Amino acid sequence: MARITKADLARQLRGHVELLTAGGLTHVKWGTKTAPAAAKPEGRVVAIAAKTAAPPVVKALRAVNVPSAALDELKQFQGSRARSLEPLAEQVRTCANCRLCETRTQTVFGTGNPNSRLMIVGEAPGGDEDVQGKPFVGRAGKLLTDIIEKGMKLKREDVYICNVLKCRPPDNRNPEPEEIEACRGYLERQIELIDPTVILAVGRFPAQWLANSTLTIGQLRGKKYEFKGRQVVCTYHPAYLLRNYTLDTRKKVHSDVLLALELLGNAPVVRG
Ligand code: URA
Repeated sequence: MARITKADLARQLRGHVELLTAGGLTHVKWGTKTAPAAAKPEGRVVAIAAKTAAPPVVKALRAVNVPSAALDELKQFQGSRARSLEPLAEQVRTCANCRLCETRTQTVFGTGNPNSRLMIVGEAPGGDEDVQGKPFVGRAGKLLTDIIEKGMKLKREDVYICNVLKCRPPDNRNPEPEEIEACRGYLERQIELIDPTVILAVGRFPAQWLANSTLTIGQLRGKKYEFKGRQVVCTYHPAYLLRNYTLDTRKKVHSDVLLALELLGNAPVVRG
């Protein structure tokens, strides 16, 4: 069980205060209500009480309660999967479980059809994703769209796409282990609710997690794994492919996505 630090508690408290603010809270009384005055000497009560009227605490806090374009998109979908994902996306929208909540613009929950039998899991939102609130909308996302549409002959909107982390790590650095841990429950629940037949893990972080391994992505790709009853295929991250756009890497990604397609079988990718 992860240890909760004072900083974690402070962030979580901040998230709660922001939610209360959204519900109409305007002030938090601080230090004015103490034990009955008679029970304490006068001087001590004055020392505990705020010297001047406390400023509204919420005004001094940076926003944890950010917008979520992905949640807005989800609301357009019909069906029980979309409805059951909504409270989770709402929880993510106001999440303060790690320090990434201090620098994000939006949370990036997931995009695409929640009734899909294929789920693609990336690493973490980048700059474009942080601004637009949806995964894989930048350069790597354009290549991922080509992989889905040209390589797999599927429509991008028929696939469900999300990331291990729901908030952008500053400067697009790699996710830290404690950030992955803080976000773990969200992806696990997303997988449970969407219940994909096949998960395509793109990049080292989702691959190592879903294949339960510490091997490199080069070693993990090309085979199938199982994660809680769902089949998993690992492949290179599109950003890696952009940096290493060789015939060899492209062939490997192509053969990985064909393996994912084979595991999907002949049934339609979106459940009716
Ligand atoms: N890279 C990822 O892993 N995810 C995104 O959403 C964008 C880039």
